[in-house]
Parts: sequence; C-alpha cells; structure tokens
Amino acid sequence: MKKYNFNAGPAILPREVIDGTMYAVNGYDGLSLMEISHRSKEFGGILKDTVSLFRELLDVPYGYSVIFLGGGASLQFCMVPYNLLETRAAYLNTGSWAKKAMKEAKFFGDVVEVASSEDSDYTFIPKDYAIPTDVDYFHVTTNNTIFGTELFTDIYSPVPLVADMSSDIFSRPVDVGKYGLIYGGVQKNLGTAGLAFVVVRDDILGKVSRSIPTMLDYGTHIKAGSLYNTPPVVPIYSVFKNLEWIKSVGGVGEINARNRRKAALLYDAIDASRIFRGTASVGDRSLMNVCFVMKDEYKELEGRFADYVSARGVVGIKGHRSVGGFRASLYNALPEEYVGVLVSLMKESEREVA
Ligand SMILES: *Cc1c(COP(=O)(O)O)cnc(C)c1O
Repeated sequence: MKKYNFNAGPAILPREVIDGTMYAVNGYDGLSLMEISHRSKEFGGILKDTVSLFRELLDVPYGYSVIFLGGGASLQFCMVPYNLLETRAAYLNTGSWAKKAMKEAKFFGDVVEVASSEDSDYTFIPKDYAIPTDVDYFHVTTNNTIFGTELFTDIYSPVPLVADMSSDIFSRPVDVGKYGLIYGGVQKNLGTAGLAFVVVRDDILGKVSRSIPTMLDYGTHIKAGSLYNTPPVVPIYSVFKNLEWIKSVGGVGEINARNRRKAALLYDAIDASRIFRGTASVGDRSLMNVCFVMKDEYKELEGRFADYVSARGVVGIKGHRSVGGFRASLYNALPEEYVGVLVSLMKESEREVA
C-alpha cells in the first residue's frame, strides 16, 4: 500500500536522498561508502561539498564554522554549556526539548529561565520577557516538535543567541548573523539519525575557564574539519544528498513557500472542522508539526479516526504521548499532495460522524 509518511522523526526524506545514499552504500567503484577511509580523497571531497552546500544554502556568513558531530541534538544540550557557560545562561522554556537542554546546562552553572509556557501545556511561545545582559548566552528552541509551536523570527539578542533548530532547519531562510550558535539533529529535515550539525560564530569560543575534554570541545572539531575521529559517514552522505535536493528544487526560499502552503492547507481544514481543533496558539503554530485533537464531544472517536487513516496508508500521525491526539509532521520532503490526502480523510470522517 502507498504510505503517506507524517512521522515526527526520523521522518520522511526525499526519494533522491534514499536512492542516492543507497547507491553510495552499495558502492559505485567496487567499494561501498561504508568500506572506505573517512580520510580518503573520496570521502574528504564529499564532506567538503556537504559543508560548502550547507553554507551556501543557509547563507552562513564569514566568521562562522560548520561542523558535523555524532551524538545527535541531545549531546549538544551538554556541549553548548560545556563550551559557552562560564557563570550563567538564559533559556526560554518552550517545551520538553528546551527543558532537557536546561537540565544539562545546570551541570555547568546557573540557568535563568526567562519565560516559560509550561503552565499552559506549552501551547504558545512566551514573548513578554527581557533577555538578561549578564548571561553568557540565551538559548531558544525554534521549533517545538512535540507541542507544534514555532519561533519564526530571528530575534535580536544582546548576548550570543543559541538555537536548537533540529526540526526546522532548512525549512525557512535564517539570518545566521543574528546567532552565536545553531545546532540540531539531522533526522527531522536533513538525513539519517545519529548526526548533529553545528554552526558557530568562531569568536564566541575559547572564553570559558574550565578545561574541556577533547571530544566535547568545539575547537577540536573545527580545527580537524569534522575529522578528529571517524564521523558518521553514511548520515553525512545523506545530508549531502538532501542539500543537493534542496538546491535542485530552488533553495530554502522555495522550500519555505511549499511549507507555508502545506501548513495552511491543514490548519484551514482543522479550523473549519466541526470535530477537530488545533492545540497550539494560532500565532505560534508550527509549519513543521501540526498538532490537533478531536473536540471534547467527539473525543471517543480519536481511536476510530486513527484506524480509519492508517487503513488508508497514513503513517505517523499519533500525537506525542505528552499531548495526545494527533500530530502531522510536514517536513521539507513531505509532498503537498500528502496533506491533501490527510485533509480528505479528515473531511470524510467528519461527514460520517456529524
Ligand atoms: C528530535 C529533537 C531533539 C533530539 O534529537 P536527538 O538527535 O534524538 O538527540 C532535540 N531537539 C529538538 C527540537 C528535536 O526535535
């Protein structure tokens, strides 16, 4: 059966990325990508091209480094404070990932929670706060994958702005110059799990007084061009193929236009529905993860709707266990027609019950 993959992560990838990675893993010169040295001319060329496409497509300015590291986004929750937190850091608490990042930072110093929407089940992104100036950095999560809220603006911060962009990287143009550091796991919008990207302004590093173990020091990986140790070569290759795909469809601006159309189609259907309602505050709702539930009077039909769509090939729309209901992830690679299919099934279900 044709599958409509709305998984939250690992998530849908362009067919070109899967086929291209498969081709390299299979090997085109009698050797598989998995069998060659990460220091070989071949892989070295791939890594160099991956970094330069990343810089080109995200418009990364001079003075910033782009590195790839194992350990996913979660290791960055610890590496960021290890490398940047001298006394205290400020965090915006907008969801479970933000909270996990705060938990790690507390190992290294004081954490100032400048604002939080936890008391409202993270249904919105707080805006009424001031960024302290006596902190080492200010950390935000630009897209809250679990709760379906997104910070669309590159905010001005008087201290280095650090952003977890795991689930919205390359979904919109970003003014990288406003950030001190951007990081994320690649498995939502870029490639195969286990890899993280880090974009860092070089002059914010080297300022903490503690010693940093070699592997956890950004400086190590910048100096070695992401080849200090053996990096996850297959995930890096999948990112390379995805960046090529993004370029081939017209770049991040075109991707963003598509993402806006997809999200509008689904949110319009939710807003017009008699049986569904969205859970996130309208102004903050994410283009990437659309969270919705059945209205209270239809709540007992959620299981039936889940079965109905899954029998028709829709995969991965069960909401996160902390939110319930449904979550449709509309990452870059998700074709517009998939959203059309989901919307039709929602309308059919609505006709059946009401
Ligand atoms: C998925 C996700 C993470 C965790 O990524 P891992 O690679 O599993 O560590 C962190 N932050 C956000 C916003 C995410 O969506």
